[in-house]
Amino acid sequence: MKTVCMKIIGLTVAALAALSLAEAPMEATWRKLTADEERVIVNKGTEKPFSGKYEKQTAQGVYTCRRCGAALYRSEDKFVSECGWPAFDAEVPGAVRQQKDADGRRTEILCATCGGHLGHVFIGERLTTRNTRHCVNSISMDFVAEAALDDRFQKAVFAGGCFWGVEFYLQQARGVIRAVSGYTGGKTRNPTYEQVCGKHTGHIEAVEVLYDPQQTDYETLARLFFEIHDPTQVDRQGPDIGEQYRSVVFYRDDAQKETAEKLIALLRDKGFKVATRVEPASTFWPAEKYHQDYYFHKGTTPYCHRPVKRFE
Ligand SMILES: [Zn+2]
Repeated sequence: MKTVCMKIIGLTVAALAALSLAEAPMEATWRKLTADEERVIVNKGTEKPFSGKYEKQTAQGVYTCRRCGAALYRSEDKFVSECGWPAFDAEVPGAVRQQKDADGRRTEILCATCGGHLGHVFIGERLTTRNTRHCVNSISMDFVAEAALDDRFQKAVFAGGCFWGVEFYLQQARGVIRAVSGYTGGKTRNPTYEQVCGKHTGHIEAVEVLYDPQQTDYETLARLFFEIHDPTQVDRQGPDIGEQYRSVVFYRDDAQKETAEKLIALLRDKGFKVATRVEPASTFWPAEKYHQDYYFHKGTTPYCHRPVKRFE
């Protein structure tokens, strides 16, 4: 009888362990919180104003969730609000969830990955052009300095015509920390826009994406790339004609190469005459400042790119 009971208990424990792993595998990787962190992140408390270590910080980098490590905010979206807590006017797309606060008036913000409490969001204060202030407890965050971003997060490089349009759509994808317009695939060091347009450098216009693998993956971004430009056009994209506008996936490892080739095969099976090349990534040279965030600054949408569902 005892043996039977032990067996049943053993099975139950194993089944429960399997169930909890299947339901919440992520919790196993969460950081163990201190009592002060738990008071804010779990019990939705608020740290004292002007007491947090990131309130005045101006260093370049990415702010992550203290509990699960997901990328939440970029230093370029941080501003001085004088309210006593770190303030940001934008979040990494999809990284922050909003819900009505228990007080019935304010809007609470939480890490969309783990549900940890971050603070509150306020709209309409006119402190920045985005008119939004994410008021975040320092204790809910960690900081990854610019020099450590490459080790912590992942990169993908796509070329699909004018980089303004490719950047515009990739920058808004869930889990994308940063999309940078630039030049790659050629020989010249530090090329200029005029040199690339003159076709003497071998470079083409491309976009380098820094993304958080906890919130998105390479295949999701590569699928999006094939739907925001027309991969059947040869050495052009819409009105932009020339080999510097050709369609290329620049892979950084074998897994990225296999994913790109798989997606191209899928599209060919659907009848698309895909012209996209798959080439190894080489040095990526960021373009001049005026090419970055072009459509966001201009306040318009791309003339050169129009999203089309091709995988459905
Ligand atoms: Zn989190």
